Amino acid sequence: MPETKLVVTSEGPEARLGVLEAGALVEYFLERARERGISGNLYKGRVSRVLPGLQAAFIDLGKTVEKKAYLYVGDILGAGDERRLLEGYDGGDDEDEEAEGGEDKGKDKTQAQGQSSKKRRKDGPASARGRRGAKKQVSHSRKIEDLLKEGQEFLVQIVKEAVGNKGARVTGYVSLPGRHCVLMPTIDKVGVSHRIASDGERKRLRKIVDSARPKDAGFIIRTAAEGADDQEIRDDVDYLLKLWEQIRQKSSLTKAPALVYADLDLVLRSVRDLLRDNVAEMVIESDEQYQRARRFATAFMPKYTERIKLYQGRTPLFDAYGIEEALRAAIHRRVPLKSGGSLVIDQGEALTAIDVNTGSFIGKNDLEKTITANNLEACDEVARQLRLRNIGGIIVVDFVDMEKESNRKQVWDAFQKALARDSTRCNITKISELGLVEMTRKRTRESLLQMITQPCPTCSGRGVTKSATALAHEILREVRRIGATVKADRILVECPPPTAELLDRYERRYLDELEKRFQKMVDIKSSTTIPMDQYKVEGRVVKVEEPSSGPKSGSAGRKRRGRSGRRGRAGGGGSGSDAASAADSHGDDDASEGHREGLAGQAGPGENDDRRRSGLEPKDDTA
Ligand SMILES: [Zn+2]
Repeated sequence: MPETKLVVTSEGPEARLGVLEAGALVEYFLERARERGISGNLYKGRVSRVLPGLQAAFIDLGKTVEKKAYLYVGDILGAGDERRLLEGYDGGDDEDEEAEGGEDKGKDKTQAQGQSSKKRRKDGPASARGRRGAKKQVSHSRKIEDLLKEGQEFLVQIVKEAVGNKGARVTGYVSLPGRHCVLMPTIDKVGVSHRIASDGERKRLRKIVDSARPKDAGFIIRTAAEGADDQEIRDDVDYLLKLWEQIRQKSSLTKAPALVYADLDLVLRSVRDLLRDNVAEMVIESDEQYQRARRFATAFMPKYTERIKLYQGRTPLFDAYGIEEALRAAIHRRVPLKSGGSLVIDQGEALTAIDVNTGSFIGKNDLEKTITANNLEACDEVARQLRLRNIGGIIVVDFVDMEKESNRKQVWDAFQKALARDSTRCNITKISELGLVEMTRKRTRESLLQMITQPCPTCSGRGVTKSATALAHEILREVRRIGATVKADRILVECPPPTAELLDRYERRYLDELEKRFQKMVDIKSSTTIPMDQYKVEGRVVKVEEPSSGPKSGSAGRKRRGRSGRRGRAGGGGSGSDAASAADSHGDDDASEGHREGLAGQAGPGENDDRRRSGLEPKDDTA
């Protein structure tokens, strides 16, 4: 295990943490004060409306939470549901992931965060709580109108942040994550994470927690507890019980609706979750945060207090450790390998494709050996990049082809080993017939790209803009479309210089033809102030707009397709597949056949005002 260091800087509007292994940045956390989520927070809420039709209720959480939260009947305490709720944790593989909630260390802190961001987008009730909630709703016939009354007050926890118009989702089943355990004060049972495989270890942990807990407090033992000594686990149980007692007291003294407890911020959470035996030191740049971290460690994990250190250098901490530089590199597609090869990472919405390349000058002798060495080097780097960029979901890695089975096996083993250092769950599902390694990595927090980039405004994140030729042909179509309707005897077109030049040099003949047909001049003016993918006809801006469901920040990594067919599939952001229909739908008989073919295959808006076209749309063959 390489030496691990935690490096924390927390001043101004954000807190940032880098995890270094043997000096290299392997993980990065960012928390912006302005964007701190409320997931995991506890509120004393007040029922503002009961909705029998939905078997849910709106809960007022006070001024700090904009919208009313909603509570499903299955999330109301009581009626013997608790056992089933906890059984979920000890049950199937999926549920086990939820028990791992705290592993995420990200901003969502409770069990709810186990759900992938993809699921979240597709709409949330897929969370473990949701699934369990659904099961419960079917399993008995409690009615919300019998259980809740307007104005009623009780403690609730946020399990899911508000999305769009939907308020946050809350539950009456509180869970408080600690370092080794999660306290579920409303449930009387102990569960163990399924990722702890050893029966002996499971028994040991269960026994410790069972003896340390009061009868009515339930605990889930997290994977992090594996191998921890007895005292550490007891300390964690004590910490959580103390915390719960504090929360209860505060709740009884608080007037609803109001916040009762906010989950820990990044600095303290990293002390709680990341400061382990293998961490040599945790270096903090701000004196205030350093003092807080020390106080927290002294109270809850004193054996690590001395490992927390204040940084006193003159160079900013993240520069001193090369973290800023590593972060700048981590948003690029291309990652150079020391021996001359490289990775090309294409992060798309559906999947991420990683292409392994060798250096350009590989000798002819021992090609297989060079390739294998290159692939072995790539294994570590791919694993590191997945953690650093926090790429989740489906990932396809295209190693350079190797002939010998023994070499393939060696690379495969090395890749497994490299992934084992990742605390986020990875699964290699298979090697495809083409030699692609297919794997999944659990989605947790936002990816690095989502955190620190936004789609390019010019190309809306596609990484490509319309070519000058495509734009020129589009202008010709537009002129042909509106030619007859323009009242003046002159049609003014303004466009970027390269397009104007193209029209002037190559399309004069067709422009003449149009002029003759409409009995109007077509005046092409070159303009440097018009963006490269736009033009104006008679002063009116024409621009192909993105569909509203267009690429989000996460797809900012999309880049030009076409350098490799395989890669192109992943990027998905080619241009213009709908143009055939656009061209054909004009259907003028007198348009020259040759030109029509020229139009086909180019991107362009259709003939009506519905300008939702983009290269992302599927091909529509109206011909
Ligand atoms: Zn762009």
